[in-house]
Amino acid sequence: MKVGTHFPDHYPKNPPRGDAAQQIPVGTRHAVSLPPAFTSANRAISVSKTLGLAVLFAALIGCTSTQRSPDMGNSDLPQVVSTNTILTDLTAELAGEEIDLIGILDPGADPHTYEPVPADTKALEQGELILYNGYNLEPGLIKMIDAAGVNAKKLAVGELVKPLDMEYEGQKVPDPHVWGNVANAIAMVNGIRDALIELSPEDADIFTANAAQLTAELTQLDTWIGQQIATIPPDKRKLITSHDAFQYYAAAYGLEVTGTLVGISTEEKPSAQTLTLLVEKIKKTGVPAIFAETTINPSLIQTVAQEAQVKLAPSQLYSDSIGTPGSPGDSYVKMMVSNTRTIVEALGGTYQPFQATKTE
Ligand SMILES: [Zn+2]
Repeated sequence: MKVGTHFPDHYPKNPPRGDAAQQIPVGTRHAVSLPPAFTSANRAISVSKTLGLAVLFAALIGCTSTQRSPDMGNSDLPQVVSTNTILTDLTAELAGEEIDLIGILDPGADPHTYEPVPADTKALEQGELILYNGYNLEPGLIKMIDAAGVNAKKLAVGELVKPLDMEYEGQKVPDPHVWGNVANAIAMVNGIRDALIELSPEDADIFTANAAQLTAELTQLDTWIGQQIATIPPDKRKLITSHDAFQYYAAAYGLEVTGTLVGISTEEKPSAQTLTLLVEKIKKTGVPAIFAETTINPSLIQTVAQEAQVKLAPSQLYSDSIGTPGSPGDSYVKMMVSNTRTIVEALGGTYQPFQATKTE
């Protein structure tokens, strides 16, 4: 399905970030001895580590730049480009060392507001497979991907999932935040696996094995999240966040999205009435805490929390991006664990750590 409408271009802007996309050294050709935290138990390479690996490499070779080289791929490996960090993470988990993977967005960047830079055009032109979320999550990049000159195979990975609707300017549009339900992430993993196999059939066994391993972990994660949310007192299972990114998560795990600040930018202050209504809603529902997000400037939601005299949860939620390397949410699995912990602890539940049972 194609979305004809535009997402709000007035989302709160991120703090300035480096505009360079980050090269994820999935097909790394250097031998590095990694500390235990970076070693992968069962997969060819585990990506929660690839971002950290990039940093480690930079440190080891004294390189401070995360700019990708102008020419992708100094190897014969297939070239894959992914737009947002969640896709980059899932893809790297499956790919092992069999592809060169470029992730365009940096961890922490907001895909809704991302404005492509010239290096992105080059990467998209050179990629043999382009993975993007779709449902208009990343409008700036989707425009480029749709443009002439991009000849790669393209897969809107998020659009493999049947969407929930969201309201935008009085219209119903597909909600792009599909990964909030881990069952959807499993469907995305299957789609990425099939696209990789089509691109590089000789590596089918590796992609299939890695996908099975990741799916096993995600299945356990899905069950675990439901169990954690169930520890929150029923009348407190209510989410109030900066923007409306948690509809799938809420629907899958038994929460209600009670209110959001979507469409209210840091530039244009919300009307007094808008704030008052949200504050009243918070007071009426009696939620003990509301939530800021890592990809959104937190100042507005802080104001709302103060006005409503509720806590702002001490950790921010990872909404549209995994966390920066070394942060608690620096992979898809870890961001879901971190979000669940933040929500459960702020709303009065009892958090038990997630431990996936490895399958051989
Ligand atoms: Zn979003």
